[in-house]
Amino acid sequence: MIEVRNLTKKYGSKTAVNNISFKVEKGEILGFLGPNGAGKSTTMNMLTGYISSTSGEVLIDGTDILEEPKKAKSKIGYLPEIPPLYVDMTVDAYLNFMYDLKKCKLPRKAHLKDICTRCMLQDVRHRIIKNLSKGYRQRVGLAQALINNPPVLILDEPTVGLDPSQIIEIRTLIKKLGKRHTVILSSHILPEIQAVCDRIIIINRGEVAADGTADEIARDITNEHKMVLRIEGLTHTADDKREIADALRAVSGVKYVRADMEREKGIYDYDVETDGKTDVRRDINKLCAEKGWNILMLQLSDLTLEDIFLKITMDDGLNKQNDGKDDSSKPKIAIKRTQNGKLKAVQEDAEEKADENAEEGSADSSENNGGEE
Ligand code: ADP
Repeated sequence: MIEVRNLTKKYGSKTAVNNISFKVEKGEILGFLGPNGAGKSTTMNMLTGYISSTSGEVLIDGTDILEEPKKAKSKIGYLPEIPPLYVDMTVDAYLNFMYDLKKCKLPRKAHLKDICTRCMLQDVRHRIIKNLSKGYRQRVGLAQALINNPPVLILDEPTVGLDPSQIIEIRTLIKKLGKRHTVILSSHILPEIQAVCDRIIIINRGEVAADGTADEIARDITNEHKMVLRIEGLTHTADDKREIADALRAVSGVKYVRADMEREKGIYDYDVETDGKTDVRRDINKLCAEKGWNILMLQLSDLTLEDIFLKITMDDGLNKQNDGKDDSSKPKIAIKRTQNGKLKAVQEDAEEKADENAEEGSADSSENNGGEE
């Protein structure tokens, strides 16, 4: 539905967006995540044809945004970071005005009623926009983006400045909109993107630093496929520990199991490493159900997406593991990008070796220091 090829935007000598490429399939909700100054708005503005690119292409449903701007733009509903509202108008007057501006051909009354219902604006249609709360104003902004039922919705930081309950409302609304539209949503807030999006592109310093589902990004980046399980056996003794560890070892795809400390009385943690190809979680779940054991915790690797995001965008240092303590005895992990574009975690002492390895690419995201605030 959306295809971006080698898109670049330069402002004088400053490169705001540098040669980015990605695709968004029909019905996907894609999150565009990056720190302030990463190039999110610039990209959004090029996607919508609001600004031109220095080089590269944007195709909306096969139509080039610069070659056939009218046709391409007719397929997009856009909510910029600052919604384009005429605040002295009533909601109804404004939506009618936008309906005329967009030369909408759908039956006016029914279409606007449908949009107001979807954006939960029925009760405020006759209110002046400036008297509405920020949350409601944002919904009016979303409503104008829906006029003409565009297949693509592009939403730039749609929850900025809203209070927590308004944020939840707008997120719920966007998720609903995702059922009928292909959505690109930008945010600098990780939980926001995780809550709403099917897929995430992390952008940093104008470049795509990671692309995939949250799980895929975490998996790519950790490279090793590790998890920690806390399993409660039947006897709450060391016998459990042996039996559980042996049973886990027998699960297809499991390479290594180490029974860890007793974390709760008679209950142990197990470090499990897999071959990286098999998702063993369901089989482990089945095993435990059959044996009458309880899985009290299942944690995939030490790296959360937040760790990864911080690492990519702020050179935070993944050796500061989840507990926030800098344990110098733990291996320090750096994120490297391979030539096939995949991200890979390498131990810092092994980094030099990895650098010499022909497999490794040139871009080292560990040098990234994040965008401007
Ligand atoms: P984001 O939306 O991720 O916060 P932007 O796309 O707004 O980032 O900005 C990316 C970079 O481009 C920033 O360094 C910003 O200062 C710069 N930039 C954005 N717009 C302009 C402009 N009109 N002129 C010069 N530099 C700009």
